[in-house]
Amino acid sequence: MSDCYGGTVQLPDVDGGEDDDECFVPLSPVLLDASGVPIIPVPALEFRTTGTEGVEVRENVNKQQRVLVKGTGKVVVGKWEANGNYSTGIHGQENGGKLGKKRRPVTVDTSKAKTSLEGLKISIRQLKWKEIPTGRRAPCDIYWHGVSFHDNENITSGQVNKFPGMLEMSRKINLSRAVRIMQELFPVEYDFYPRSWILPDEYQQFSTQLHMVKESDATLNPTFIVKPDGGSQGEGIYLIRDPAGLRPAVAGAPARQAVVQEYVHKPLLVDKLKFDIRLYVLLKSLEPLEIYIAKEGLTRFCTEPYQEPSQKNLGHVFMHLTNYSLNVHSGNFVHSESQSTGSKRTLSSVLQRLAAKGVDVKRVWSDIIALVIKTVVAVVPQLKVYYQADIPPGKPGPSCFQILGFDILLMKNLKPVLLEVNANPSMRIDHEQEVAPGVFDCVPSPVDEEVKVGVIRDTLRLVDPGLKKTASCQRRSAAEAAAAGDGQVRKHPDGMPSPCLKQVYPKYSRQFNYLRLVERIAVLFVRFLGVKGNMRLGPTAFRTFIRNCKLSSSNFTMASVDILYIDIARRWSGALPDSREAGMGLQAFVEAFLYLAARRFKSQTPREQVASLLDLCEAQLESPAPGPEERRSLSCGRSASRGVAGAPKPQVHLQHLGPAPPSPSPAAAPLPRRASSQDCRRAKPRLREAHAEN
Ligand code: ADP
Repeated sequence: MSDCYGGTVQLPDVDGGEDDDECFVPLSPVLLDASGVPIIPVPALEFRTTGTEGVEVRENVNKQQRVLVKGTGKVVVGKWEANGNYSTGIHGQENGGKLGKKRRPVTVDTSKAKTSLEGLKISIRQLKWKEIPTGRRAPCDIYWHGVSFHDNENITSGQVNKFPGMLEMSRKINLSRAVRIMQELFPVEYDFYPRSWILPDEYQQFSTQLHMVKESDATLNPTFIVKPDGGSQGEGIYLIRDPAGLRPAVAGAPARQAVVQEYVHKPLLVDKLKFDIRLYVLLKSLEPLEIYIAKEGLTRFCTEPYQEPSQKNLGHVFMHLTNYSLNVHSGNFVHSESQSTGSKRTLSSVLQRLAAKGVDVKRVWSDIIALVIKTVVAVVPQLKVYYQADIPPGKPGPSCFQILGFDILLMKNLKPVLLEVNANPSMRIDHEQEVAPGVFDCVPSPVDEEVKVGVIRDTLRLVDPGLKKTASCQRRSAAEAAAAGDGQVRKHPDGMPSPCLKQVYPKYSRQFNYLRLVERIAVLFVRFLGVKGNMRLGPTAFRTFIRNCKLSSSNFTMASVDILYIDIARRWSGALPDSREAGMGLQAFVEAFLYLAARRFKSQTPREQVASLLDLCEAQLESPAPGPEERRSLSCGRSASRGVAGAPKPQVHLQHLGPAPPSPSPAAAPLPRRASSQDCRRAKPRLREAHAEN
């Protein structure tokens, strides 16, 4: 199997497509079954680790296994539990019990699970775990929230299924900003996100750039899609071909913030219909970065045959928007009886269909994996800032994980395009249906159940607190071994369906580590934040950063530093009259950092400039004798000193990490500079309004 899909790909013949596309990301091959569907092998039952506390497991014919506890000489016998753990008695020991003592069931607080509840209950039953439906009296192992990290307050232990700040980061403006920073540094790698402008701040740039495009070629008449910030389920979305088409703010109300984005006008069609992919992604941990992708997803179909946008059909939502919530109201919507028909189908059924037409689905799948990893890499820096503010290092707090819903469109040339990331993807496994004229009822949806229960159950298996303990003994868990992609597909020993989540990071870290530059800037930022819970850098902290990193000189005096700070901080906070937390947020700091890097390393590309300045700052901060100010900063921001696990070390140059990244395309049009509107800082009081699931 080839590692790189260089050159051109086989053309899809699904709807008479004819375009080729170039490969832009070499990836390790993804295992596919006979039908071309990506597969995740289940646990390899035999594995060994090193270290005095390691264990070595050998499978026995009668499904029992002998486990050698290294360094102790003890041999214990155990078997796979229903929850995917190997029960050996080691747990019992860790829990202070005797060898062979059964572990208490994992407890899951489901009181805030909202619409995930049904799928969650099924998963908990399958795993033989314990549901705590009315909320905790005693601490639980896992808290399943329906909206955000803050659904339950004051959790000091266990795990929460939401990261602080993820809801904010998935808003259309914040996501666009995070991707845009990456597009400035890595324009080729991040070309999977349509060019976007933030309204109202960037109206002028949008209007001018469109004007220039039309002037350069009068035959061009591009279409744009306008999406309200924080909107979901297609609400408030419309298409335009001219800035004059932007809907004015309702009289008296402030202009609604929105993203206006290039409309992908040549989507891949199946049965002449536009569709998009809902892919479930588990962000298991930020430090170290761990990402899993569900091998099965959903495809949501439009209900009116697609035509390229024209002035006449711009308003046809059933032709242009794939949202279930909209199309379900069309007379043509077909509730799927099977997984391969109707208006909502499984991803594998669509991939099979494409494979049958000669499409290289392996390539499509590896491009999708690349898109997911790069998107997560773009949002992680800001997530880390939120994380240290809500769960300061050294204070008791839970750890977090989160299931994300990635909405992806395939272009006719098979290139995946990111539409959005949902922090609260709908996990409903039923839908409303008109069971008699005018009578609606909730009926089970087999397609949703098949996909979503698998995702929830595998997520639970991966965050099983029992696994954490064994992981500390350097033992690979059943689910992790499965997700790592080795071994063969087979049923779980206890009849549990084979895992559907596949680890993609750190598995592919070699290919993507070089992209984690902004994360290193975030680590510096957090280091100088000072006060616990803060998310903004004050002027003194900014000066300390400059001084400790030795960035000032006779050409760039501390007075210039103050002016730079005031200029950038003011621009970024200008659009926030309600801002109670003054100072420079991460994105403003990144802008300042890019400015400093460009000043200092003039002859390099933006990416090289940033890498060089990071190397310089990190080297300065690693010098042995920090001053008193530095010591204070360090004691307040301990997490920062950990750095980016697996990310390039200061002295390592970018080229040494994975394959040489493609150089930025000279043709890449300049992106609009970051605007001075809403920073994705934490609003106080924190955003807690219910956010529609999507
Ligand atoms: P929402 O959160 O309201 O669902 P999305 O960004 O997912 O907003 O957009 C809604 C739908 O609009 C998508 O499911 C997709 O069908 C269509 N869409 C969104 N962005 C684009 C785009 N840039 N090009 C083509 N279609 C798009």
